[in-house]
Amino acid sequence: MQGGLAGRLRRACARLVDAWLPASCIVCGGASTDGMCPECEAALPGHAAMRCARCGLAWARSPRCTECEADPPGFSATVALADYAPPLERLVHALKFGRDAALAPPLGRALARRLEAAFPDHAPPAAPGDPAAPIVTAIPLSVARLAGRGFNQSLEIARALARARRLPLDHRLLARTRAGMPASTLHAGERRVALAGAFTAPRPLAARTVIVVDDVMTTGATLRAAAAALRAAGAACVINCVVARTPQSDARRDARPDRPRRTG
Ligand SMILES: [Zn+2]
Ligand SMILES: [Zn+2]
Repeated sequence: MQGGLAGRLRRACARLVDAWLPASCIVCGGASTDGMCPECEAALPGHAAMRCARCGLAWARSPRCTECEADPPGFSATVALADYAPPLERLVHALKFGRDAALAPPLGRALARRLEAAFPDHAPPAAPGDPAAPIVTAIPLSVARLAGRGFNQSLEIARALARARRLPLDHRLLARTRAGMPASTLHAGERRVALAGAFTAPRPLAARTVIVVDDVMTTGATLRAAAAALRAAGAACVINCVVARTPQSDARRDARPDRPRRTG
């Protein structure tokens, strides 16, 4: 189910490399025990940006996020490592399309540090087996995508994040209800309509907090649909963790055609 033999081999190799070789920084190539040196992490575009706490959209002038105010999503918070811009854009591209699964653990660990900084209450991590601990999951790929790529890049990032925070991981919390997904060229509103009901959460989640990991958040339509399914299954709180958030101008441009016309 997780991408066949090629995918399993690719993930196994990535884990071996991650566990045994002296790591180098995936950004600068310099020595790093963690896969990303603190200097490179701090220099990522948008790393220090002020963001809407709910959807992670960076803001320059006003913290008032009209999108979240006008149409509140089912998730409560979004933690983003940095903007979807070089070098993260290149790294995510290599992870997904170059099938370089070894890039996922350093990205997951860097995201775990962002999560810890955003929610220090979750630190130290929950005791193993704590029934109240947040559950980590990932946006599932379609069966066709998974077969082609061999692994779900978001799940591999989630795996590293969960390990770093010592949180339980359950990759079956979300399931797709249909084979295909709408084209990424659709505008935000069209995507949101097309994605409504795209996920189901088969497992009851009474009062649990769920951390949903995705590689890139652009319009937020996918994560909105995922949060709706998790909340319908009883999740008390949904927190998104994304490696890269599309910068404001791009996301606004995407979102504009469907933005409700409001005055004041
Ligand atoms: Zn570096
Ligand atoms: Zn927002």
